[in-house]
Amino acid sequence: MTAIAEGFTLSETALAELQGGFRGEIVGRDHISYDERRKIWNGSIDRRPAVIARCAGVADVMAAVKFGRKHGLPVAVRSGGHSFPGHSVADDAFMIDLSPMKGVRVDPDARTARVQAGVLLGELDRETQPFGLAAPSGIVTHTGLAGLTLGGGIGWIMRKHGLAIDQLRRVDLITADGEFVKASADENEDLFWGLRGGGGNFGVVTEFEFNLVPVGPTVLAGPIFWAMEDSPEVLRFYRDWVADAPDELMTIVIHRKAPALPFVPEELHGKPVVMVVCCWTGDHEEGEQVIRPMREFGKSVADVCMPKPYLEHQAMLDPSFVPGRWYYFKSCDVQGLTDEIIDITVDHSLRIESPLTSFPIWQMGGAVARVDEDETAFGGRNAAFTYNIGAATATAEGFEQEREWVRNFWSALEPWHTTVYVNFLDAEGEERIRAAYGEEKYNCLKALKRKYDPDNFFRLNQNIPPT
Ligand code: FAD
Repeated sequence: MTAIAEGFTLSETALAELQGGFRGEIVGRDHISYDERRKIWNGSIDRRPAVIARCAGVADVMAAVKFGRKHGLPVAVRSGGHSFPGHSVADDAFMIDLSPMKGVRVDPDARTARVQAGVLLGELDRETQPFGLAAPSGIVTHTGLAGLTLGGGIGWIMRKHGLAIDQLRRVDLITADGEFVKASADENEDLFWGLRGGGGNFGVVTEFEFNLVPVGPTVLAGPIFWAMEDSPEVLRFYRDWVADAPDELMTIVIHRKAPALPFVPEELHGKPVVMVVCCWTGDHEEGEQVIRPMREFGKSVADVCMPKPYLEHQAMLDPSFVPGRWYYFKSCDVQGLTDEIIDITVDHSLRIESPLTSFPIWQMGGAVARVDEDETAFGGRNAAFTYNIGAATATAEGFEQEREWVRNFWSALEPWHTTVYVNFLDAEGEERIRAAYGEEKYNCLKALKRKYDPDNFFRLNQNIPPT
């Protein structure tokens, strides 16, 4: 017998049984690639699962779920490994790893894509952009499409085309019993509702099918920079400028010390700046007119908002979120950038120590807000802005201090908190998960959990325990 988790033992025979028919790879603690395979994006998380089942296909996922079930093992599900609190890896758990499942099939005529669960955002864009198409997703290419979609999926084209889930047509899923089911608007509709925002609570998704929308291949996009000390005026102008912005415009405001990247003028490197990062997906001339007032406001110190390939824009923030650094986030939605919120934002931004800390304020609204709140499990469609207050350091050094900065900043905004995006939560407990969905929706999700996973087999996630 091998002790693989506290209170759990497995016979060599049981592991051999799993290994037997498995097409992918079983990685135990003595496997040569164990340390590589257990790593996730957030370098501050260092956990040692008992066994990693790297699934090659649907049959492997079914076998893995049944195996975990039969042996009563705590199960962690991993696709892109980008969960902020590291839900996809746990000490002594059985990790079901879908990252080898990389299939993408684009149908340019039907404008659809079938995408397996291990695909990353950049990999999907790579396949859709040759046809001038895209699925709404997120803003960093190495994020996993699976976890992102199951939480909602916010990104550069959402104000025009909605969240990732708003273009989701169907999923294939393995239930807690290891059974294969489909969910769509016509089949298992309740499950389909819950999967669009309810995260990994209801099963393991093996494949997604999306509608694709026309985007690019060129967009008018990039950051405009001001000195951070000008941020009180920049943000006040910005909030009025975006108030009636067309859906084609999506913006993210970033406060940070300017990074030493090729598109940032050398004299700014390391200096505190505020950037308004734009992405205009419509006609470029019209976009120039819409963006001009912001460009011309005050004394910008750099402006690299220009026509460029959508793929390039999608990858622009990758260097700011390099895997392996130490990260910590706390998030909240607000209903508007009031004077108080702006002053708090600037006050805390000026206190950023780490040169790697870079936190986005997302402009919401547009197509996201036009879908009825009850249509999907996702909560917070009416949020005006989403704060994702995040800190980063290269190693443990300085991390505590930066984390304290996040907590203080987030607490200072507390009187204005409304909802919170579930995919931006840390491990913050049930109250915060409830806040993500609102009371009524949370109770519906609990009832759905009772139907599809009454034993809470899938609990290493932003967990919604069954009623
Ligand atoms: P994983 O850690 O692999 O999975 C996270 C959780 O999702 C798992 O614990 C599990 O509960 C569930 N899950 C994953 N795969 C499956 C599956 N196949 N079936 C069932 N459940 C599953 N979010 C946005 O909306 N927009 C962004 O632009 C954005 N940018 C980000 C950038 C970075 C650098 C990072 C780290 C995160 C970003 N996020 C963004 C948040 C992101 O949506 C979540 O972290 C999401 O969980 C990542 O999915 P993943 O598959 O990479 O994560």
